[in-house]
Amino acid sequence: METTEKAVSNVRAYFLNGNTVSYEFRKKQLENLKQMLKKNESQIYRALKRDLNKSRYEVYTTELGFLFSEIDFAVKNLRSWMEPEKVPSPITHKGSKSYILKEPFGVALVISPWNYPLQLALAPVIGAISAGNCVVLKPSEHATATSSLLADMIRDHFDSSFFTVIEGGIETTTELLEQRFDKIFFTGSLEVGKIVMKAASEHLTPVTLELGGKSPAVVDEDANINLAAKRIVWGKFTNAGQTCVAPDYVCVHEKVKFKFLKAVKKYIRSFYSKDPLKNNDYTRIINDKHFDRLIRFLSNGNVIHGGNFDKDTLTIEPTVLDKITWEDAVMHEEIFGPILPVLSFTNLEDALHRIKTSEKPLALYYFGEDSQTQQQVIEYVPFGGGSINDTFYHLANPHLPFGGVGTSGMGAYHGKFSFDAFTHQKSILKQTTKFDIPFRYPGNKVSESIVKKIME
Ligand code: NAD
Repeated sequence: METTEKAVSNVRAYFLNGNTVSYEFRKKQLENLKQMLKKNESQIYRALKRDLNKSRYEVYTTELGFLFSEIDFAVKNLRSWMEPEKVPSPITHKGSKSYILKEPFGVALVISPWNYPLQLALAPVIGAISAGNCVVLKPSEHATATSSLLADMIRDHFDSSFFTVIEGGIETTTELLEQRFDKIFFTGSLEVGKIVMKAASEHLTPVTLELGGKSPAVVDEDANINLAAKRIVWGKFTNAGQTCVAPDYVCVHEKVKFKFLKAVKKYIRSFYSKDPLKNNDYTRIINDKHFDRLIRFLSNGNVIHGGNFDKDTLTIEPTVLDKITWEDAVMHEEIFGPILPVLSFTNLEDALHRIKTSEKPLALYYFGEDSQTQQQVIEYVPFGGGSINDTFYHLANPHLPFGGVGTSGMGAYHGKFSFDAFTHQKSILKQTTKFDIPFRYPGNKVSESIVKKIME
């Protein structure tokens, strides 16, 4: 078996040969990636069913369909993204031309998590390939069927010196992180994000960290309550809550709380049936460790919907917890499961202050009709990105950068932002030799007042 060191050095040699630079090469590889996914569509459904019991519908909408759109968007825009960007030159630079060259970093390491094990492995790769990099991908060891399918598919469709998969757990990742990369793109937890950044600092490798946190949904008294409940239920319980941008908890105005909770229960029943544990299309929890961690939260507050679980199938009903306070254990860590704590407020400012003084969330969702308040909320609270009157739809718009801030992450991707995440912006100034303005040189005859006029 090839060592990680050997694998990475093969990839580096391939990059240094200049193979990945041309537009034609990049476009061909992106098309190849799409073909690979199309060809293996049924195996992909099977793998995700095995790893998380995901339904075909959810696999298509949240994994495959998303990747197809991202690939198509990249292919359509690749040529313009790659073009050198002309920029103006100031008067002091008369005669020169300035532009930014888009240079690939080189060898990129992509480390991905288990919750959307296909999408979160390949979405960054689309950016890496578009930008002309070679890629080493380390998928999550917890989604074993998808990880092994990724390794097989990529081995069959790509030159392993250009794009290779290295499977394994902590030991393998640690070994990989000892190698020198030109870019590391990590999606996962805050704790491991810190490990990755520390390792990257050894080689001064730039990192993008896509992390998590507690993303709030705030439902104001003037919100369209029925639609707020519907969209929050969808955002929270898709993938059984194992989504980095799922609304972690809800803060609802006391005046509309009763109506909101009634609508939440209605939509849970409508989306997942009266008995979600018997619903074949209901996603399960990834493993025993996370299942046991989640079960402990069920003793917080009052369970007003759901609360049943099945240890054999690792499923937990979509559960709503009422009478939650900021002090409860469920409010102290990212939930990452199908449990929705509900807090209430009578003064929006107080609720927002509480959110603002916590760690900066990856997302925030505000539900309310007044546009002035909407604006105040999104400007007052720092967060990665979010939606007004919706949950997690913002991440599917390729024109918006997706990423966190503070403990929820660093850097962004999707659409052109993925290309940028793997690109060095190389500044070039092309100077004229036809003339040489003297004022910068010592001993020139230009008066100080003229120099000041030019430069100020
Ligand atoms: P994780 O951090 O445990 O694992 C992510 C990756 O890191 C895996 O490939 C794993 O093998 C590797 N890893 C784990 N421990 C390591 C160690 N000690 N040293 C080196 N590598 C190690 O995360 P997870 O449990 O797979 O995913 C859940 C977390 O990811 C949540 O916090 C969630 O919010 C976050 N997440 C963020 C996004 C985003 O786009 N911002 C998307 C999905 C998940």
